[in-house]
Amino acid sequence: MSSTSPKSAPKKSKGIHPSKDKLHSLHLDRHGWTGKRLAATFEWDFPAKLLPTRRDEVSERWSDRMDLALVDAIRASYAQPGPGAPTEAMLHAQRETHDAYGQYLAHNIAANAIQVSCGRGCSRCCHHFVTSVHALEVLSVYENLRAQDNLEALMQACQKRVEDFDAWVEFCEETYPERTPSEREDLALEHYYDERLPCPFLEDDGACGVYPDRPMTCRMYLASSPPEYCEAENVTDERADVFTIPADESIAVRLERLDRSADYWGHSPDLYRSLVKLHEWRRRWTPGA
Ligand code: SF4
Repeated sequence: MSSTSPKSAPKKSKGIHPSKDKLHSLHLDRHGWTGKRLAATFEWDFPAKLLPTRRDEVSERWSDRMDLALVDAIRASYAQPGPGAPTEAMLHAQRETHDAYGQYLAHNIAANAIQVSCGRGCSRCCHHFVTSVHALEVLSVYENLRAQDNLEALMQACQKRVEDFDAWVEFCEETYPERTPSEREDLALEHYYDERLPCPFLEDDGACGVYPDRPMTCRMYLASSPPEYCEAENVTDERADVFTIPADESIAVRLERLDRSADYWGHSPDLYRSLVKLHEWRRRWTPGA
């Protein structure tokens, strides 16, 4: 998208969210999204809460399991059928790290006595531009998707999200020259969220279509306040309690190592761009793998 896109500077007032009218049609026609521009209306700082790491015998046991799976995955990576085509051992290692994180998450939630309000069908957070993904996570999601009849439509929807986000980055570079690159990227993410574009994998009933393989970054995003406080216009309300529980170091380090065994096609930090790139690689180099 060019810099002449009709984006306009955000207003600070808290009026009616202009994209509310659009939500219904987006959900009805997810894959046929027209890409119509909407001006962002808010600038907000997303409140993130980092909880203290709590380790116990459960996480120690999972560390051993992750290590065994990791060794197998690294061995198997030498036998990959082609760029971006993972072996079963690599996918197994991915599942082990996600399962370990699930244990860690459950333990933290219980230890901190948090009443999580997220549930199936509550999907406001699935309108973020999904960033900070790992290479093997992208491979896992793609393995899930590539058997589906609508793979090409999903990849086109991912490409549209990438173009939309890049347009916001360009817009923020021109509109906020005094900000640092990192601040401008945060603003671009906020504009994108405010626009209410659903993740292409979000089902009509609000469930995640790749739930077993969803990336860690989707798993760690939680709220204990009612869903309406996840709306862009409410997230700064003092009643909002929206936070992340990042993976502890033992899991994060193993994910980094898995990246090295899987990143043959050079993934990027965001999910949609990585999937589109991987799709092109697979079609070109390993069409039957
Ligand atoms: S991958 Fe799933 S959980 Fe993550 S944003 Fe998309 S629909 Fe939501």
